[in-house]
Amino acid sequence: MKEILKGGRKKMNGFQEPKGICYCGHTGNGKGSQHQSLLGLEGEGPCIFADCHCGQFIWVRFTISYKKFLKEKTRQEGNTCKKRTR
Ligand SMILES: [Zn+2]
Ligand SMILES: [Zn+2]
Repeated sequence: MKEILKGGRKKMNGFQEPKGICYCGHTGNGKGSQHQSLLGLEGEGPCIFADCHCGQFIWVRFTISYKKFLKEKTRQEGNTCKKRTR
């Protein structure tokens, strides 16, 4: 189990920004999130804004910057796959 967790974390390395947008419209799930930490998970807790009634981060979509990051990753992985077939 530990090894699986390690592999998963490695994949997430390299992205130091919030990865998701909450239903309340604020960023979460990552460093610099507009949501507090919950159980050691950054940006998974309640919203940091007092006037926001959000009690916990609920993912609705990825941030634009994380989408770009994913695109870059899949592009890199796609290139290695193409090299094999050609
Ligand atoms: Zn909020
Ligand atoms: Zn929220």
